[in-house]
Amino acid sequence: MNIKIQKNIEDSLQAELVEYRRHIHSYPELGFKEFETAKYIKSILNKYNIETKDICETGFVADIGKGGHCIALRTELDGLPVEEKTNLEYSSKIPGRMHACGHDLHIAVLLGVAKVLKQNEDKIEGRVRLIFQPGEEVLPGGASKMIAANVLKDANVEYVFSQHIDPMLPAGTISIPQKEAMASTNELFWTIKGKASHAAQPHLGNDAILASVNIVNFIQSIVTKFRNPITPAVISVCSINGGNTTNIFPSEVKMQGVMRTFDMKLRKEIEELLISKSSDIAALYNTSCELYIDHGYPALINNSNAVKIVTDAANNIFNKSDIEIAEPKLLAEDFAYFAQELPSCYWFMGTARENEEKYSLHSPFINPSEEVLIKGVKLFIEIVNTALNKLNTENN
Ligand SMILES: [Zn+2]
Ligand SMILES: [Zn+2]
Repeated sequence: MNIKIQKNIEDSLQAELVEYRRHIHSYPELGFKEFETAKYIKSILNKYNIETKDICETGFVADIGKGGHCIALRTELDGLPVEEKTNLEYSSKIPGRMHACGHDLHIAVLLGVAKVLKQNEDKIEGRVRLIFQPGEEVLPGGASKMIAANVLKDANVEYVFSQHIDPMLPAGTISIPQKEAMASTNELFWTIKGKASHAAQPHLGNDAILASVNIVNFIQSIVTKFRNPITPAVISVCSINGGNTTNIFPSEVKMQGVMRTFDMKLRKEIEELLISKSSDIAALYNTSCELYIDHGYPALINNSNAVKIVTDAANNIFNKSDIEIAEPKLLAEDFAYFAQELPSCYWFMGTARENEEKYSLHSPFINPSEEVLIKGVKLFIEIVNTALNKLNTENN
């Protein structure tokens, strides 16, 4: 199969997708509350004669094609609790909410893919499941919930693909992680308990502040001395609170931070070290320490076959100079759960405008280039061609 977007409809499709994207951008909703967003997307899919099936709260799927092998393409639905400051005419109309992670663009891309695939349904040699996933930005995330609700199994999905915008890369360029894409994330909450005393009589108390700063210092040694240096990991303490005056030691200090790595075995080892060493150091100062660890998403690891499909597809339709290998990032993303289930690939498409200041994902000023819309559709369509052709030949 070789579905292509006809050159003469590219401009009108791009204009249509810009309209969808701007509407979604104007009305962002938070994770698992994407009611109006889902309604709007479904109304467009229905206009294309595509049926949808609800899976897991506000999430849903749309299946195109018949019989044979099946691949899935996934977008997220949620916006963020951010007050938009772009002053664009289609800025968020909902105070304190913004599509600041590009999920509005991801949705519009999949709508374009849906339209093109539906128009060419008789040429699809297999099936494509479009996954509209709720709540990527809020733990525990919609991905694991959808998987538990059989979003992959009930269609016998064999590969999963997802694209994210990257506002730091030039618009239209593609950046593909070869293996490690995103890290596992653990949120860390320490409570160090001592005994309050006058600053001039430290011997009458137990100094929770001195214990805390020694914990902060020592845990950096976990990364440098207790871990094989060829495996990346980061431990960052980003908040420390205790005491409120010049001359009294507080009885308690609270600290917060994160630990991230790609290696699930190392993740477990560092968790154990963090708990035991924090407690040992607290004990040196006759204080006690409790460390509560909240588990975030696992590491997102791309599959080499899926990476090859995306790379081949990108090479087929874009200039080689626009395609690069992405370095692993210690950010986190719940597409990781899809990648744990099936061969998957997650990659980035640049959205930085030339000669304009770049703003990171989640910034209230982010204003990604909409060029990504038609380019994203083209890439996904070529991925559908490449993946289904591969699956069909492998089986013969
Ligand atoms: Zn985000
Ligand atoms: Zn995102």
